[in-house]
Amino acid sequence: MPQGKIVKALSGFYYVQDQERLVQCRGRGVFRKNKITPLVGDEVEYQAENDLEGYILEVFERKNELVRPPICNVDQAILVFSAVEPDFSPTLLDRFLVLIEANEIIPIIVISKTDLISSDKIRGEVQSYAKDYENAGYTVLLTSTVESTVENDLLPYLNDHISVFAGQSGVGKSSLLNVLRPDLELKTNDISSHLGRGKHTTRHVELISVGTGFVADTPGFSSLDFTGIEVEDLSYCFPEMRERSSSCKFRGCTHVKEPKCAVKEAVEKGEIPQYRYEHYLTFVEEIKDRKPRY
Ligand code: GDP
Ligand code: ZN
Repeated sequence: MPQGKIVKALSGFYYVQDQERLVQCRGRGVFRKNKITPLVGDEVEYQAENDLEGYILEVFERKNELVRPPICNVDQAILVFSAVEPDFSPTLLDRFLVLIEANEIIPIIVISKTDLISSDKIRGEVQSYAKDYENAGYTVLLTSTVESTVENDLLPYLNDHISVFAGQSGVGKSSLLNVLRPDLELKTNDISSHLGRGKHTTRHVELISVGTGFVADTPGFSSLDFTGIEVEDLSYCFPEMRERSSSCKFRGCTHVKEPKCAVKEAVEKGEIPQYRYEHYLTFVEEIKDRKPRY
């Protein structure tokens, strides 16, 4: 039986893309008994009735699942933060990173609008942040749609993966996609635009093919609270803490007040930037405040 990927779901139909064709399918098969509703991103087995229509017979196991937008098997999040307009915000970036890491999705940090940097001071700050995040273990790309660095720099990361864009509105997400898929003519700087639909969205999401990969046409992680994340999970969402946790004296160290903490030592030595650690502490407090305290 042929296999493919659901790239669109609409009015009870699932559109399955395989190597050669896009087939409009209805669900029929054992997965319905297991109460599985096919989702955009699903890998499925289907039976073709003809070249255009068929039935989904099986939905393969998912590696993850997002609620907003409803999509699964996301490999990576393209986290867009502008260098300026709006100014680069490491606080907000760290918040997004935690949410993405908690979903076991690989973040790729894109610092956009580098052509708008107007002084050496700001350029130096942006470069210094980029270096910090690289040291933490992240891929950081600097882009400008004006200087058209996007195809060379970003496209190779999108190939062969399912990606979702994330980041505040106005940072340039639609503009980046427009460089890669000019035929789509996504509206920019417009809250009703395709990729910027945000909160008021209909539940409809579609995977757009970009290079040899797919990108969701609706940005992810628009809700920025830490629901479902516990304090114990938090340091696993900071790669530079995650890798040091095993060297802390206490098992299950939360890196707040415990003695002989490898994370705090790394902060003191300047191996972990002070601001990253401070954001971590703020997030710990925020998660604790969610619960009744006795
Ligand atoms: P989105 O809300 O994240 O999708 O952001 P948009 O793609 O709509 O971009 C917001 C504004 O920033 C638009 O006016 C874009 O033209 C502008 N913009 C986006 N990327 C760049 C860039 O690399 N350089 C410059 N100069 N402007 C950009
Ligand atoms: Zn520790």
